[in-house]
Amino acid sequence: MSSRAGIVVTGTEVLTGRVVDRNGPWVVERLRDLGVDIAHIAVVGDRPDDMTAALRFFRDEGMDLVVTSGGLGPTADDLTATVVGEFQGRAMILDEALQDRIREILRPLAARWKGLDPSALEEGTRKQAVIPDGATVLEPVGTAPGLVVTPAGDGPGPTIVVLPGPPSELQPMWAAAAETEPFRAATAGRTSYEQHMLRLFGIPESEIAETLRQASASGVDLDALEVTTCMRSGEIEVVTRFEPAAASAYAALEALIRERHADTLFSDDGSSVDVQVAALLREREWTVSTAESCTGGLIAGRLTNLAGSSEYVAGGLVVYSNAAKTALAGVPAELIAAHGAVSGEVADALALGALRALGTDIAIGVTGIAGPGGGSEEKPVGTVCFAVATADGVATSRRIVIPGSRAAVRERSTVVGLHLLRGVLRGEADVGAGVGAR
Ligand code: ATP
Ligand code: MG
Repeated sequence: MSSRAGIVVTGTEVLTGRVVDRNGPWVVERLRDLGVDIAHIAVVGDRPDDMTAALRFFRDEGMDLVVTSGGLGPTADDLTATVVGEFQGRAMILDEALQDRIREILRPLAARWKGLDPSALEEGTRKQAVIPDGATVLEPVGTAPGLVVTPAGDGPGPTIVVLPGPPSELQPMWAAAAETEPFRAATAGRTSYEQHMLRLFGIPESEIAETLRQASASGVDLDALEVTTCMRSGEIEVVTRFEPAAASAYAALEALIRERHADTLFSDDGSSVDVQVAALLREREWTVSTAESCTGGLIAGRLTNLAGSSEYVAGGLVVYSNAAKTALAGVPAELIAAHGAVSGEVADALALGALRALGTDIAIGVTGIAGPGGGSEEKPVGTVCFAVATADGVATSRRIVIPGSRAAVRERSTVVGLHLLRGVLRGEADVGAGVGAR
């Protein structure tokens, strides 16, 4: 059986959502890479009793390893080291050599602050050097040392890895923690896993559920595979994790997905549509531009998110008002008057306008009603029109109705836009077949 681990993320700021937890998921990924199974992340406020209760829960569940984040600072409300020491039945002792090292770290920092109270500084240093007797010290990246603490007297219970809260300190300390002898011992039962991600676009999640049923019915051993499907902005991610012995079961599942979803499977190596669009633009040595109304520049934002995008992104026009559509993208005012700003005709004109204005090889135009107001019977909220143009003219145009909030409509529109660009760049015969009507 593989080793199991739990995570305790501490901090009232994380509990309340003022700070989004970046440590729990990060540690989960690292442990999964090592083949350690994660059951829970517990998020607790800065109260010792709550932290102890979380540790007790993990011990009762038979975890081999617990990783904590936060509460290692110099102030009195940073309690993790003491709580963990007590939990493991270890006395707290002052490590004088560690105290000296923390002093050395602080010396240049302290020099930069005028009027610092030296006695308060010394007290904080001392606090951070008080550690559970027998703990393995992980050298500080900031000022707080990390700790690896086993139960006293080789008693039963998990090995606890104590790491600081700031991700910029926790992450660089991870490698040192994983190399310690107690960490290795606690994760000795780990197995190696393989993980594959497939991405699909333009089908509902129920279609994948049906594929899994068919796989099972045709004898694929799904019990040997940990399959998770997740729908995000119209894309479905199918992540499968399995032990090497189950490789043939995975191969059979992937073959079935390829067969049943040939036209919607766009990524078999986990690559995002953004990365694929970038690669296709590079391959063709093409430049791209946008003219965006309802997405307000979100597509240009995604295109420029990747390093090196200056090689193929010329720019984008944010043409929110009708006047801007005419002034910047050259959409005739009469066309807007005749068909409405949200229309296939205007989307076409936007794409052609961006292509012309920015002199690119390919361009996308988007216009829609993000809501919550502005809908009509003929054009309900969520109606979005897209067009992609190249030197040969309009290559594809689509009109779809996206359900959900204003934010959802804008986000989904951005993803649809990127997929339409991808389809045209790949020279697909029927670009965006799964995406609405022309
Ligand atoms: P410090 O010496 O900085 O006080 P610490 O180990 O005591 O370190 P915390 O006091 O718990 O850490 O957190 C310090 C800061 O680090 C938080 O205010 C927050 O900005 C960031 N931080 C803590 N935990 C997390 C987390 N789980 N995800 C993202 N950021 C975090
Ligand atoms: Mg703190």
